[in-house]
Amino acid sequence: MAILQILEIPDTRLRRKAKAVTSVTEDIRSLMSDMAETLYDCDNSVGLAAIQVGVEHRVLVIDADQTEKGPGRLYKMANPEIVWFSEEKTLSAEGCFSVPGCYADVERSAAVHATYIDENNQPQKVEAMGLLAACIQHEIDHLDGILFVDHLSPLKRERVMKRLQKIRRFSA
Ligand code: ZN
Repeated sequence: MAILQILEIPDTRLRRKAKAVTSVTEDIRSLMSDMAETLYDCDNSVGLAAIQVGVEHRVLVIDADQTEKGPGRLYKMANPEIVWFSEEKTLSAEGCFSVPGCYADVERSAAVHATYIDENNQPQKVEAMGLLAACIQHEIDHLDGILFVDHLSPLKRERVMKRLQKIRRFSA
């Protein structure tokens, strides 16, 4: 087990498209464990995509219901795919370890159904709503090189990025 280093913008590796895994090997299982450990090491963490730790596999980990008391249901997903999006949309404040210090409201489907392969190579399906649904959409975006700020209007994105530059300028 190891804590992995998370890439931050403007690292161009965050813009690459991750490749599907052919099967969940011992290496992928250990990547999933390291990603989970990294996730739980960060405050207010909900999900992490392999692309964010510089690995171009379609792998992610999500725990959308952990509390101060401890971890909740941990999903380890390989080749996740959204097979159904609700027409109903919802706005929620999102942040991202790869865009530190930045939060903005992003509109996404309120519910999604996703398929994936679990750490034991079994096909699974999850019907998600609320935070879990938003997180699945956010993490799968990462696997396609998309960041949450890409969903903002150009004006809003500019404002958010300017604020980010300011934070950077004044941090040591
Ligand atoms: Zn993110």
